[in-house]
Amino acid sequence: MTYLMLTGGRVVNTGGTVDADVLVRDGKIEAVGNLSGLTLTDVERVDCTGRLLLPGGVDVHTHLDSPMMGTTTSDDFATGTRAAACGGTTTLVDFAMQAPGEKLLQSLENHRAKAQGKAVIDYGFHMCVTDLYEGATDEFAEIMQSGVTSFKVFMAYRGSLMLHDGALFEVLRSSSAVGGQVCVHAENGDVIDRLAADLVAAGRTGPGSHEVSRPPSTEVEAVRRAIQIARMADSPLYFVHLSTEGAVEAVAEARAKDWAVAGETCTHYLTLDRSLYDAPGFESAKVVLTPPLRTKEHRDALWRGLRAGTLGVVSSDHCPFCLEEKRRLGENDFRAIPNGGPGVEHRFIVMYAEGVQKGRISLEKFVDLIATAPARQFGLFPSKGAIVSGADADIVILDPNGTTTISAQTQNQRMDYTPYEGWTLPGAIDAVYARGELVARGGKYIGSEGRGRFLARSTL
Ligand SMILES: [Zn+2]
Repeated sequence: MTYLMLTGGRVVNTGGTVDADVLVRDGKIEAVGNLSGLTLTDVERVDCTGRLLLPGGVDVHTHLDSPMMGTTTSDDFATGTRAAACGGTTTLVDFAMQAPGEKLLQSLENHRAKAQGKAVIDYGFHMCVTDLYEGATDEFAEIMQSGVTSFKVFMAYRGSLMLHDGALFEVLRSSSAVGGQVCVHAENGDVIDRLAADLVAAGRTGPGSHEVSRPPSTEVEAVRRAIQIARMADSPLYFVHLSTEGAVEAVAEARAKDWAVAGETCTHYLTLDRSLYDAPGFESAKVVLTPPLRTKEHRDALWRGLRAGTLGVVSSDHCPFCLEEKRRLGENDFRAIPNGGPGVEHRFIVMYAEGVQKGRISLEKFVDLIATAPARQFGLFPSKGAIVSGADADIVILDPNGTTTISAQTQNQRMDYTPYEGWTLPGAIDAVYARGELVARGGKYIGSEGRGRFLARSTL
């Protein structure tokens, strides 16, 4: 078929919602509107009556096939992107980790090779800088030219990932000079390491101690420090995975001064409570992720931050490690439990249910947080993140009257658990199109293999 016509649905974009048909040709959206008068031959028509047509999700924070804390994340680019597609996400920006002792360009090339031919949705990369060796910043221009226009640094995990403040300053300054942006993991790593050592010395070695070792102030302090360092470097700044009320306040203050500071939070910080750390035995290792889950007070502040525009993006921070792997590495010492959890498959529907259906955000705001704003922030808009003429035909067809039940048994993520086990949510993703190809239906992947393309991103 030359044309695909999605008829009779309700098309949602950040700017508004309209009842409209969508015409697709060669993987791109050709027209949106009342197209019933159009005479076309060779057209496949799909009746979308009663359905919402939403831009495919853009998840700018994933870790696929990524070495971390002595192991590797459980999803590779084949399984992770299939899971994403089934859950309504059609674009990823994944973190290319710098391997110890390796040059940035080499690490980027290695990560690129892991994705090529395996990813089933389109993808880009952020370049993680974990070791600022002599001459590292000289490679920034070439990295930018290759379409990787953002860098990532850690203010925690001393001895493995963490950069000290001078190196952070240098990355910010050098990135800014070539038009890039820097994503920061903001936690005071040194304080956390001492708190964690105290807990272990006191015999509190179980997974629940993870939360205790990372109190909210360790995030807030690092956020405030990073903002000031970015001012010194005259650089824009993007915070990944903010989890606390104090961080939202710090970002709001900076933005009120018109500083180029942006903030992201993640599905789990908006929906899961810290009481999960009180589970008996090793069970709570499932939510040993960083920063940890917080109390309702913080969750409420994050939702307010999203509504106010202080936080602009919701990502998954999909960083999956099976519970058995967490146990193997960290059963006797919570510090050795690999930090992270799954989420790329469920971000879309959980945010729709918990955000829109619970009246916390509008449908248009949901589309913004899940697709449009991340695409804009990371140089993918307007080809990604909107249902408009000329954009890639990445479209999710959602049945607002359906329901979705989440379970490890039925998920596509290569994981032995999900923190949303047994959740039944309003709304069901019927079908997912990626560049006009029907890639998922009813939570099953039906697209072709390895069809994802590398996205060279533009600068802001
Ligand atoms: Zn992450």
